Amino acid sequence: LLDIDVREKAFGKTIVLHDIKLSLDDSQAAVLLGPSGCGKSTLLRIAAGLDKQFSGSVSVKTGQDGNTKSPPVAFVFQEPRLMPWLTVSQNIGFADGAKYDTGRVNGLIADVGLTGHAATLPKALSGGMAQRVAIARALYTEPRILLLDEPFSAVDAFTRMKLQDLVLKLVEQRGISFLLVTHDIDEALYLGDRIYVMGAGDGGIQHDLSVDVPRPRDRRAARLAELKS
Ligand code: ATP
Ligand code: MG
Repeated sequence: LLDIDVREKAFGKTIVLHDIKLSLDDSQAAVLLGPSGCGKSTLLRIAAGLDKQFSGSVSVKTGQDGNTKSPPVAFVFQEPRLMPWLTVSQNIGFADGAKYDTGRVNGLIADVGLTGHAATLPKALSGGMAQRVAIARALYTEPRILLLDEPFSAVDAFTRMKLQDLVLKLVEQRGISFLLVTHDIDEALYLGDRIYVMGAGDGGIQHDLSVDVPRPRDRRAARLAELKS
């Protein structure tokens, strides 16, 4: 679905990423784990097409569903980045401007647990609520791939657990693949089918833990079954 091959990415003389190959398959949950400053956000921005200043390639296969209208990739940043002058509804439907699809926006508001807040302005939302809006805004574009850059790091541990489950449930329901960046090992183990580990300052992927690391799959599977019912 998404193939990333970064031979080299530098800022000035500093090489931040080198020799990174990473791919995302259909309905796959991939997690990129690594310490602060190792280049995770840089790699995610490259994956999203937000940064084209690198050597290598990124290719997105849109599949055969013929859906050319919606962009296949959506991005959730560490901070919600909502438009402060727009309501929750308007922020979620932002991609379509004033003529957003009210039905779909309302559906998403319910999906992310914000019923009753359609007309609320961002300043009246908590951090966790605002991040729910950001997730709904990303899903509104009907992406095949969701890229998330430490989406839960700014919320408290309790809210974080709820949002992790929310993302798992929503992507499971929609068959979306995601690549999530985090420096939280527990989060990586909980969310990832596949975990890529980057080391501090090395700029490359050091481990692909999709096969050989025992992970709390049972806990996740049980939780998914619960969420689906
Ligand atoms: P964190 O977990 O703290 O978000 P990260 O893994 O996402 O860290 P990046 O933001 O990708 O790290 O940054 C990787 C390296 O690239 C850092 O050393 C940073 O200083 C450098 N860097 C990032 N963006 C720029 C930029 N626009 N100009 C110069 N250097 C940059
Ligand atoms: Mg970052």
